[in-house]
Amino acid sequence: MPQTLFINATIACLDSESGYGLREHGALLVEAGKIAWLGAMQDQPAVSDAEVIDCAGRLLTPGLIDCHSHLVYGGDRADEFEMRLEGASYAEIAQRGGGIISTVNATRAASEAELFAQALPRLNSLLAEGVTTVEIKSGYGLDSGNEIKMLRVARQLGSEFQIRVQKTFLGAHALPPEYAGRSDDYIERVCVEMLPRAHAEGLVDAVDVFIESIAFSLEQGAKVFACAQALGLPIKAHVEQLSDLGGAVMAAQRGALSVDHIEYLAATDVASLAQNETVAVLLPGAFYVLRETQLPPLTALREHKVPMALASDANPGSSPVTSLLLIMNMACTLFRMTPAEALRGVTINAARALGLATEIGSIEVGKQADIVLWNVTKPSMLSYQIGINPCAAVMQAGNWRSQAGLSR
Ligand SMILES: [Zn+2]
Repeated sequence: MPQTLFINATIACLDSESGYGLREHGALLVEAGKIAWLGAMQDQPAVSDAEVIDCAGRLLTPGLIDCHSHLVYGGDRADEFEMRLEGASYAEIAQRGGGIISTVNATRAASEAELFAQALPRLNSLLAEGVTTVEIKSGYGLDSGNEIKMLRVARQLGSEFQIRVQKTFLGAHALPPEYAGRSDDYIERVCVEMLPRAHAEGLVDAVDVFIESIAFSLEQGAKVFACAQALGLPIKAHVEQLSDLGGAVMAAQRGALSVDHIEYLAATDVASLAQNETVAVLLPGAFYVLRETQLPPLTALREHKVPMALASDANPGSSPVTSLLLIMNMACTLFRMTPAEALRGVTINAARALGLATEIGSIEVGKQADIVLWNVTKPSMLSYQIGINPCAAVMQAGNWRSQAGLSR
């Protein structure tokens, strides 16, 4: 049975209720794809033919988890970005075919192979920084065939790269142009046709809805959730990004894994997240790109001990970001989160947001051996620097995915 023994490591275990769960001069044994032993270096188990990695004091963390991304899509929105900065109004941009519908059109026009090829550099960017699990949403197809196409590409990315990809159905992301003025009819189609078909192909790990004045109403969101739960699927939601429609409370009361964005969530509604063990997923990339000023209710989230996760929200419009290290820095700089909260946000709390916290997200005996070795000795370095990638080696389920920086 292949074994790997890490010695002389600074290990951020993320196994405690707060902070890093830091172990200095630690050792860690990986066996059969799992963490088999963890402790002080002087107590390390006797192993005869294990691969031994001397970390020389460097940092080990769990593999990073991007728990909210729209990584698969066609085209880009660089022209729109440029037009806006040259002074074009939103109406002009929409008139010239910009906005989310341009991404829907490009995604519908692309083949599976084209979507796969376009997603590759984005996924590689995440993986280069130690990501081992990525959630990928549909939501730019907006009909059965195209939503299924997106989710197949997400599945293929997971199998080709041997990483964990969680596939989220987001049929209720935007109203497709052919349903203009008939949003209830579209939600009906999502519920009776699109979601059941994607689910029947085994392509749905969770169901998401965008509840917002520019997307779907509270009642429409609740209807999609009821359909998802009738199929036994977990739910999550884009809520309170631009206004407070009460989506977070509605989703939490239905047992949502997470509520995402939540800049406009009222502090008085945070208790509902705590009561229902719903994770708050914060997305500073979109906050930055949209130059938002309304901060998520950090004080109330901390008071109620609501787990806070962070994610890239990688998408072509509001968050063309594929760096979780940059997201960690943005969370600290823009939201005043601590570096420990930021690291928890992309490890254990991201795992919770995906319903996977018993398997991944921390370094604990029995969990899957998704482990990153970093060329730093303190975990705060991961949030502090911008533009340096200190990822030295990545182990995924006990196998080396990259090991260029093992020795130095
Ligand atoms: Zn999103």
